[in-house]
Amino acid sequence: MGVPSLGCACRVCRSTDPHDHRTRPSVVLSYSGRNVVIDTTPDFRLQALREGINRLDAVIYTHGHADHILGLDDIRPFNLKQNCAVPIYASADTQTILRRTFAYIFDETPTESSVPGVDMRVIDGPFDLFGAKIIPVPARHGNLSVFGFRMGRAAYLTDFSTVPQESKQMLRGLDHLILDALRDTPHPMHSNVEQSLELVRELEPRQAWFTHICHDLSHAETNARLPENVRLAYDGLRFEVELG
Ligand SMILES: [Zn+2]
Ligand SMILES: [Zn+2]
Ligand SMILES: [Zn+2]
Repeated sequence: MGVPSLGCACRVCRSTDPHDHRTRPSVVLSYSGRNVVIDTTPDFRLQALREGINRLDAVIYTHGHADHILGLDDIRPFNLKQNCAVPIYASADTQTILRRTFAYIFDETPTESSVPGVDMRVIDGPFDLFGAKIIPVPARHGNLSVFGFRMGRAAYLTDFSTVPQESKQMLRGLDHLILDALRDTPHPMHSNVEQSLELVRELEPRQAWFTHICHDLSHAETNARLPENVRLAYDGLRFEVELG
């Protein structure tokens, strides 16, 4: 829901620490002069402005929930600037949701309005993207099937409740693991802090970053009680990863 949460006056929502100001979760991979975004959140436009994203070469979706897709309409300026459709990578299920939610994009009726230009591509296994290998990592998000993604020695795994054994094998030997940790109390759709710490102990990434954090967790106070190799991610966080 983002932090501050609308209408909430809890201490994290009122915090003056900029790290406690959280837009919806997304990452951009920048390499070989390309920008690849994972998920277009309702905050996509402001995130892209904040990070100075001046071109968009592909979008990859983890799943079709509103907080991960609703910014899709805001790719239009990149369509115009680059004069081409943007490749969209998503599972067949997520594509169904995109086609329903953004029916006007897929409507063949001619229109005077500009609509996002998309080139839909189904994810059905690892794929090459501008010279990098993107490996989808299946996970469960409540009763929904979702994808995490491994890119070289980094992986992004937002929105999950459990990770199947075969997927854990795909998450070994990581330098950076970004993973869901919504809050301390259990949630049927999301991994909580304790469950994610357990997964980090099992997978042993060099560095783990918690994401999809709600207003229950104060940035500074939570970091103070986490192991050294586990930190809360925050808006604007940047680091280098080995893609090869
Ligand atoms: Zn709050
Ligand atoms: Zn979700
Ligand atoms: Zn989400």
